[in-house]
Amino acid sequence: MKINIIGGGIIGLFSAYYLQKEGYEVHIFDKTDFTEGCSYGNAGMITPSHFIPLAAPGVVAQGIRWMFDPASPFYIKPRLDLELLQWLWKFYRSCNRRQAAAAMPVLLDFNLLGKKLYREFAEETGLDFKLEERGILMLYQTPKKEKEEKETAEAALRLGIETQIFDRKGVEGFETGTTVNALGGIYYPCDAHLYPNLLMRQLIGLLKKKGAYFHGKTSVTGFEFLGSRVTALIANGEKYGADAFVIAAGSWSAKLLAGLGLQLHLQDGKGYSITLKEPAGRPAYATILTEAKVAVTPMGDDLRLGGTLELGGLSPRINQPRVKAILDAIPRYYPNLKIEMPPTEKIWYGYRPCPPDGLPYIGRLKGFDNVVLATGHAMMGLSLGPATGRMVGDIFQEKQLNKSYLCLFDPNRFSFSPTR
Ligand SMILES: Cc1cc2nc3c(=O)[nH]c(=O)nc-3n(C[C@H](O)[C@H](O)[C@H](O)COP(=O)(O)OP(=O)(O)OC[C@H]3O[C@@H](n4cnc5c(N)ncnc54)[C@H](O)[C@@H]3O)c2cc1C
Repeated sequence: MKINIIGGGIIGLFSAYYLQKEGYEVHIFDKTDFTEGCSYGNAGMITPSHFIPLAAPGVVAQGIRWMFDPASPFYIKPRLDLELLQWLWKFYRSCNRRQAAAAMPVLLDFNLLGKKLYREFAEETGLDFKLEERGILMLYQTPKKEKEEKETAEAALRLGIETQIFDRKGVEGFETGTTVNALGGIYYPCDAHLYPNLLMRQLIGLLKKKGAYFHGKTSVTGFEFLGSRVTALIANGEKYGADAFVIAAGSWSAKLLAGLGLQLHLQDGKGYSITLKEPAGRPAYATILTEAKVAVTPMGDDLRLGGTLELGGLSPRINQPRVKAILDAIPRYYPNLKIEMPPTEKIWYGYRPCPPDGLPYIGRLKGFDNVVLATGHAMMGLSLGPATGRMVGDIFQEKQLNKSYLCLFDPNRFSFSPTR
């Protein structure tokens, strides 16, 4: 059986990996040449500790405050866009305790599965993409953040996640790579990190070796149907038939679904990263600087700094004040680490595919017998890549699926408006 996968990011590639394991012939289509995009320049964190969905109580009020600060980690480009307004309304409605409480154990479980599958994947394939199971440290400098982070740590404990709480001295003793200036920090040993660029390159090499077909610089523009089945995708003016299709096109998935007559609520949460090659005196631990919302990840001998979330309608414009805010945060927490603003071409950006309730869309599309959607992983696509890929494989194999995943990740949950 032949499956066409649209999107060669982490989700498309891990879907290909698990489908190939089940014996399917996989063809991966991407409009790029498989060297760039959100799955390459991200912060590389595997995050069971991030069990609170993006849409959570208190987020709306904080988001509105940030909108008025040009250096804040969050921004919405003001524009008259019906889809953005619908998304914001659904986001607002999702920011409640009941939904967050239902999502938390499921997100945790799916993230833990992701981490386990990364370990198995590294062992089975022998690939070295600098997977380090060394946890993540959440640093804070203000009593307000300390209170919030301690509340999250208590919630983590209730869900069975181990944490260690450090005061100023404790943090200084723990972070051995460089000097730290923080009121304290919370360490989540359950987390891990890796070097995404290495992972992507090696995963592509592995899939090719095992017979996957890669169609680079091939932009999918539409589909052909027969009743409730998609029979072919259309790309670069040609038809590519298959028995089934996976749509894993990240932030562009809504556009593709429009071609199927379906509406998908998805916004692109743009973020930036800067990678320093072999810097001296870098932090030893993957860390989140919580007030600044900046991720700091040692990757091999390099160091990556990432942050911001802009809903800008896939704008390629680099917002210099926000990039500068990421860099300015570094010496506030690490006084010995000062970083110059890099030239524009060294600033990476990617678009996180963000659904309004902060939960991914994974499952069969209503109205189509042979199309599976896998997208919407927002801040956690790297972390959830293998778990998602395996779920896609299980869907095609018609294996019994975890009921919570089926329900919370249902791609039809916002009741599509079919226009076919
Ligand atoms: C600054 C930053 C830091 C992050 N840090 C982390 C982290 O530490 N941990 C974590 O888990 N996640 C992190 N993320 C999020 C993570 O990177 C994303 O969730 C993940 O990469 C999304 O993967 P994807 O495969 O769904 O989408 P993408 O990687 O965007 O892949 C989608 C692919 O589809 C292709 N495509 C789209 N439309 C078409 C078309 N019509 N035809 C052909 N191809 C098409 C695109 O070219 C693209 O290659 C971060 C993101 C950012 C921006």
